[in-house]
Amino acid sequence: MDKQLKTATLCVQAGYEPKNGEPRVLPIVQSTTFKYDNTEEMADLFDLKKEGYFYTRLQNPTNDAVARKIAALEGGVGAMLTSSGQAANFYAVFNICEAGDHIVTSNEIYGGTYNLFGVTLKKLGIECTFVNQDASEEEIGRAFRPNTKALFGETISNPGCKVLDIEKFARIAHAHGVPLIVDNTFPTPVNCRPFEWGADIVTHSTTKYMDGHATQVGGCVVDSGNFDWDAHADKFPGLCTPDASYHGLTYTTAFGKMAYMTKLVAQLMRDLGSIPSPQNSFLLNLGLETLHLRMSRHCENAQRVAEFLQADPRVAWVRYSGLPGDESHALAAKYLPSGSCGVMAFGLKGDRQTAIQFMDSLRLVAIVTHVADARTCVLHPASHTHRQLSDEQLREAGVAPDLIRLSVGIEDVEDILDDIRQALDKIA
Ligand SMILES: *Cc1c(COP(=O)(O)O)cnc(C)c1O
Repeated sequence: MDKQLKTATLCVQAGYEPKNGEPRVLPIVQSTTFKYDNTEEMADLFDLKKEGYFYTRLQNPTNDAVARKIAALEGGVGAMLTSSGQAANFYAVFNICEAGDHIVTSNEIYGGTYNLFGVTLKKLGIECTFVNQDASEEEIGRAFRPNTKALFGETISNPGCKVLDIEKFARIAHAHGVPLIVDNTFPTPVNCRPFEWGADIVTHSTTKYMDGHATQVGGCVVDSGNFDWDAHADKFPGLCTPDASYHGLTYTTAFGKMAYMTKLVAQLMRDLGSIPSPQNSFLLNLGLETLHLRMSRHCENAQRVAEFLQADPRVAWVRYSGLPGDESHALAAKYLPSGSCGVMAFGLKGDRQTAIQFMDSLRLVAIVTHVADARTCVLHPASHTHRQLSDEQLREAGVAPDLIRLSVGIEDVEDILDDIRQALDKIA
């Protein structure tokens, strides 16, 4: 892929280059398997000696084309699609961690990831320490142990809307000999490319803006190829010592910069199997083709809505990094100069019931367990996505009980504002 091409061009064209007479549009290769003329050819594929398709759990032309597009957009050496964002974050960590290991993560993360790291990974013997991402390098550094294998954060946290100081996190991770994994779901590579700031691995819930139409659940893991696993070989035996399940092959020796990606596909996807269907990857690709157009409209509309909410006396607080007084404004100016995303958080003056009354009065804006698609939507995390967290855990995860998460879509902003205005009038 030509890395010289601009983001908008990559959104439209990257990943799939049809040859003479082939379909102009990425075809859906809805086939579990692929045919070969002799046994030896197939054997070479199983031995990872040759690249080629044999079974869709491992590789599929439609899935791979979309993965290549996302890798090009992020500026990575390779990417792998998964069946959900949850699977992407699990795979990204589990590719370099096993029982007895430990990770450090910001506590400002998506509720599903918070549970995955704090509860489910623990059952697999992987411990997790949650840190305040705004703490000093020294303080965050104190969370690291000899068995720590990764540092994790979200470029823009869901639902707290805080911007991560990626360079600071990269310095801390690298000082401790581990990679920085960044979930870049909210800004997308259109608005931020974490590899340019030192992140080593990027993950996505492609369910959100990348798809943008709420038609498929999906995820993606992208590798920068920059982390030197062999320099910390004692920490990463899975990459730097022979894999018994692959004839004693050592990933770093055999695949260099593609070591992490190859292990991810050849070992984790082989064994755990959370692949997207080719049909879903096709839908994701349609979304990606307009991502650059949609992101700028999401940001434009969200800025107007955030300013409107901030000026309304019935609104207690607004969190949107585009607002000059926002605590993430300076970080957003650095990492997200062309805009952040359409998601914001705010609270109304009053109690929990006020929030519910406001939400129930909305007409155009729908209550859904979703964010980041073309339609404006709203959610109350304390009673929806985060309801399994205690009040203390809620606060630790940066979610105030009165927090309303608003995902501003790409409708005409005047219609969005009218709907919010009439719903506010109902509570006044
Ligand atoms: C939604 C989301 C996830 C989980 O993705 P799914 O596709 O719903 O599994 C992970 N991280 C962030 C930041 C998200 O917004």
